[in-house]
Amino acid sequence: MPRKKQFAINGTKIAPGERKTVMLPVAELYDFTALEIPVHVIRGKKDGPVMFLSAALHGDEINGVEIIREIIKSPLVDDIKGTLIALPVVNIFGFQNKSRYLPDRRDLNRSFPGSKHGSLAGRIAHLFMREIVSKCTHGIDFHTGAIHRSNFPQIRASLDNKATMDFASSFNAPIIIDSSMRDGSLREAARSKKVNILLFEGGEALRFESDVISMGVRGTLQAMSNIGMIEDEKVENTKYESIVAKDSFWLRAPNSGTVRMGVQLGTYVKKGQVVGLILDLLGDVEIEITSPEDGIVIGVNNLPLVTLGEAILHLATVERLNKRELKKRGFIYPQADID
Ligand SMILES: [Zn+2]
Repeated sequence: MPRKKQFAINGTKIAPGERKTVMLPVAELYDFTALEIPVHVIRGKKDGPVMFLSAALHGDEINGVEIIREIIKSPLVDDIKGTLIALPVVNIFGFQNKSRYLPDRRDLNRSFPGSKHGSLAGRIAHLFMREIVSKCTHGIDFHTGAIHRSNFPQIRASLDNKATMDFASSFNAPIIIDSSMRDGSLREAARSKKVNILLFEGGEALRFESDVISMGVRGTLQAMSNIGMIEDEKVENTKYESIVAKDSFWLRAPNSGTVRMGVQLGTYVKKGQVVGLILDLLGDVEIEITSPEDGIVIGVNNLPLVTLGEAILHLATVERLNKRELKKRGFIYPQADID
């Protein structure tokens, strides 16, 4: 019998059939607080894909923290094929401070692949690449909208190869955005290492949202079953047949004022449709916000106080779909009227 390959995170070995939590030391703060990233590793008895799940690279985006907790406590991962590496909180500093950033206001997800001697963000990125990404075949990174902004549950991936297209589709999110890479992102760095990586977006910063969390958990387990980590028949398979969007754009405030929104996340909007009103405080001004194209609302600004040019709605451009197809996939059509 050939001996199984050794698997270790930061020098800690994890044997086949073993589960271990490893703390990955990053730095010590000036008040001696130790910054350590918790990494939970589940190694199956049989070899197979090696997948990482990461959340809170932006420290205030926490739906993924709960998604990962639910996955690692699910009985479905007790007997996996391959290895699952779960990092519920990567930016531990931001998480503690309920902030997107690191102490020097750097954005970890713009600091990849990082370097050994760079900024703190760059060093964390470098460590993450060395200890996690370089050992993986697959990965899913969990994000949410920013503060006061909600995202409709969506997968973002570069769909230029069949393997990623299959992996993205198996997640069964209502919508997949075929999005190009952002410079310095984990997604870009992982892809350059030939890791098949998806980004799941859903909900708003600093919230636990049940529908987003259950979709994230179900999607991840389905994606794991698709690549053979979990036996197929064990996973509940709700098919959405995701809509693929090639592009997206923001509708911006044509004026400063307060906003009455006429649509919500998941609404299919038609070209020329009024999606909201910009008002002034004294009732003199009422400006209609119309959409220049058909699209699905994938992001919304929840704060009704806006300044000229501020992003209000994020729309994904999709092929024209009929009412039945949209309803089947859980979209809203047509939109409610604004009163
Ligand atoms: Zn994010």
